[in-house]
Amino acid sequence: MGNVLNDLADGLLDGSVKVVDLTQVLGPDTPIIHLPEEIAVNSPPFSMKEISKYDDNGPAWYWNTITLGEHTGTHFDAPIHWVSGKDYADGGCDTLPAQNLVGPACVIDCSVETAADPDYLLTADGVKEWEAKHGDIKAGSWVLMRTDWLKLVGLENFLNADDTGPHSPGPTDCCINYLIEKDVMGWGVETVGTDAGQAAMFETPFPAHSMMHGANKYGLASLTNLDQLPPTGAIIIVPPLKIENGSGSPLRVLAMTAA
Ligand code: MN
Repeated sequence: MGNVLNDLADGLLDGSVKVVDLTQVLGPDTPIIHLPEEIAVNSPPFSMKEISKYDDNGPAWYWNTITLGEHTGTHFDAPIHWVSGKDYADGGCDTLPAQNLVGPACVIDCSVETAADPDYLLTADGVKEWEAKHGDIKAGSWVLMRTDWLKLVGLENFLNADDTGPHSPGPTDCCINYLIEKDVMGWGVETVGTDAGQAAMFETPFPAHSMMHGANKYGLASLTNLDQLPPTGAIIIVPPLKIENGSGSPLRVLAMTAA
């Protein structure tokens, strides 16, 4: 094991291991998922209020108070986020095992399909086609759906909603079921939530939430820069804030790849 970490250290120092930032900027313009007001209370937008900035309130220091929902911007979904995962003793931000928060990523490129159809759904067969090219998904891997969503629609159209609701890509229930059978660690996307925009209307509503969290597995939403990762071989680092009984949190997601 010593040699593995020495090799990694050498790679980081000589640049043969590259660190890629998979995080969107967090600020007042960060898009927030919008739930129908008749069924749910919505999360507030991110806001920031200055405490001091090298002034009378604090002569040599600058800091702010921030207000935000746990599920804002690039963020982690813990199992207790969903009612199906509420009873897992290790399913909250403060109780989930650290070992689960660093791991290999399988990146499934759905960018061409999404550009042609914003409601594109990745199926179990789509995952199997990816495996036929890139190898079987190993238990404990993170599976990331690349759509280049931010580049495709921009921040102002990130939710891509009209009077028929939001239109953004995601997984089918059979896709999520297959990933659970493969015993993946979690599922990540480049859209505002881990489910497709139209997932409220699915036969199994919100499968990436209800089924993944029901299996004590995790989610990552509003990732970006997945186009900078290879299909396999990257390692991602995804620790949420250690919020007591937290259901998720914004985080900085980093990936290590061979340059
Ligand atoms: Mn979330």
